[in-house]
Amino acid sequence: MEGSVLLLMWSWKKDPTFSELIHLQELIDVVKQVAIKNSADSWSWDGDPRGSFSVAAVRGWLAGRRLSNTELAIEWCKWIPDKCNIFMWRALLDRLPTKTALRRRNINTDNSACVFCDDGEETVDHIFTACGFATGVWEGVLRWCGLPNFFAFSVKDLMELHKSKGISLVKKEFLKGVVMICCWRIWKARNEHIFNNKRCKVVDIVADIKAYGFLWYKNRHKASVSDWNSWCNLFLM
Ligand SMILES: [Zn+2]
Repeated sequence: MEGSVLLLMWSWKKDPTFSELIHLQELIDVVKQVAIKNSADSWSWDGDPRGSFSVAAVRGWLAGRRLSNTELAIEWCKWIPDKCNIFMWRALLDRLPTKTALRRRNINTDNSACVFCDDGEETVDHIFTACGFATGVWEGVLRWCGLPNFFAFSVKDLMELHKSKGISLVKKEFLKGVVMICCWRIWKARNEHIFNNKRCKVVDIVADIKAYGFLWYKNRHKASVSDWNSWCNLFLM
């Protein structure tokens, strides 16, 4: 360093290639911007205007970012486990490792066909809405709830089902959780099919959804339900 002028003297063992020279120039451009002061080094966090790091500052920073994109947000359902909520959030963002998603990331799969119907391409929307297997599961669940058939074309549509008019808040909360359990259980069946070569029947999946729902609602919902019959008729009451 001479005054404010940075001088670098190179002694190459072999001549750098063209791309190495470009990288070198980029590095010099970055280093040029660094002003070296004759003082002790210190840490600074750019999430806070004063540069100081604290839990309160992180909390404020997260709160400011949290609602910046509501498209990426999901209405949390408290009476089902976090794993189901997070699973649904990933499904909404198209972040599940479907065959189509894996191919998009250049990961080789034998084919991209849905394991249930061997017809459609395995995408998030197909596996939870368009697939005949999923349709059978939804029919069973809607019949249980005494609801008419519902036509969904995407995961986002499924998350609108509980917002139907004329349903009480308690039933909306119930339905939101049941929809998430459905998707989570369908995905579990898909994995069992691929990794354990296990074929699941629609009736067994619907029975599982009711059983998981009962277990979680009884133990995690503040209103709870007293017994199996009350649970099975909760939406009809
Ligand atoms: Zn299918």
